[in-house]
Amino acid sequence: MGSKKTVAFHTLGCKLNFSETSTLSRMLENEGFEKTAFEDHADVYVINTCSVTDNADKECRQLVRRIQRKAPESLVVITGCYAQLKPKEIASIPGVDMVLGAAEKFNIAHHLKELTKGDATKICSCDIEEVSGFHSSFSINDRTRTFLKVQDGCDYNCSFCTIPMARGKSRSDLIEGVVANVNKLAANGVKEIVLTGVNLGDFGEGKENFYELASTLNKLEGIQRYRISSIEPNLLTNSIIELVANSNTFMPHFHIPLQSGSNRILGLMRRRYRRELYAERVKLIKTLMPHAAIGVDVIVGFPGETNEDFQETFDFLHELDVTYLHVFTYSERDNTHALTLGPVVPVHVRHERNKTLRNLSYMKQQYFNQQFAGETRKVLFEENEKNGMMEGYTDNYIKVVAPYKQEWVNNIIDWKL
Ligand code: SF4
Repeated sequence: MGSKKTVAFHTLGCKLNFSETSTLSRMLENEGFEKTAFEDHADVYVINTCSVTDNADKECRQLVRRIQRKAPESLVVITGCYAQLKPKEIASIPGVDMVLGAAEKFNIAHHLKELTKGDATKICSCDIEEVSGFHSSFSINDRTRTFLKVQDGCDYNCSFCTIPMARGKSRSDLIEGVVANVNKLAANGVKEIVLTGVNLGDFGEGKENFYELASTLNKLEGIQRYRISSIEPNLLTNSIIELVANSNTFMPHFHIPLQSGSNRILGLMRRRYRRELYAERVKLIKTLMPHAAIGVDVIVGFPGETNEDFQETFDFLHELDVTYLHVFTYSERDNTHALTLGPVVPVHVRHERNKTLRNLSYMKQQYFNQQFAGETRKVLFEENEKNGMMEGYTDNYIKVVAPYKQEWVNNIIDWKL
């Protein structure tokens, strides 16, 4: 005891990154490392970056500075999407010892063996076109809800997005592989799995498909709840919606990116659907499952978005029977087609539009929650205790806060809202 090397992680960005950090952590623990909190002293610090976060560079610099102050002799490794996109920029941050790109991050244990503090910063990355092969990942023990990565990368070319450049082409696990992971998770007592991917609806790339995956999982024993993290509207087929409607384990909860309610802007964004298709999907979901929660991603301030375009988005969302919005403010990204579009929307207008939609989201969520007041729904309670209280979510993703009871942790309880 005491001689084990310690490693600490910090994750920026999305659920996929969180599940991959968990996998990196398990890999290093298997190699004899002991995991500690990022705030504590560690021999190795790993920062898993994101390219979607604004200021990824700034955030990264700040974290590295913090590490240098408390542990100047420790190794600092940067990985994730931003590391793939801007390896040289990251390597130039004082105190960074190694940058691991998309293909190399799962070889972290091997690369660490060859790393000594004080050497020149090592960059291990290759062209994203060369990145292939799929690494399944899941987070366990972190939360009651486990994020299971079943797909990675994306073949679409939405004009604002750098993810295909950071994560490479679309590739997936096989259904067989997913089933093996699900069984493992069930044996570990996991109750809820969130199926995660970059372009999840593209699962299987034509050889298998997401519907087949979902119907296979639906027939398995062991896991009580599945959620679909986010799925493109053009890939969310009627049969997937019907499967969820008839399933006891797939929760009535969808997250569907819209990005804009203006067809003109959707065209400029190179999205693969128009607003009419989106409205149809929502209508079918709500007809089959009136109680379903629907989350929507929207981007405001995309180049060329006029006041009229924004008003169209607002009116469309206002009318649409959806539950909550995730509102993103457009920000310029290197090497994207959107940079060539215009006119550019002034930053203060982008922020105003963001605020307007966030208000709309708040109202929609309130309206949704009120519809279920007094009803009893099933809540899966989570582990964390905060001031004597615990949190959980209903099947249709309403957050519940209740006085902490140990026996409720990771259990599904009938709860009157
Ligand atoms: S579907 Fe579009 S926004 Fe989503 S990851 Fe692919 S390119 Fe990016």
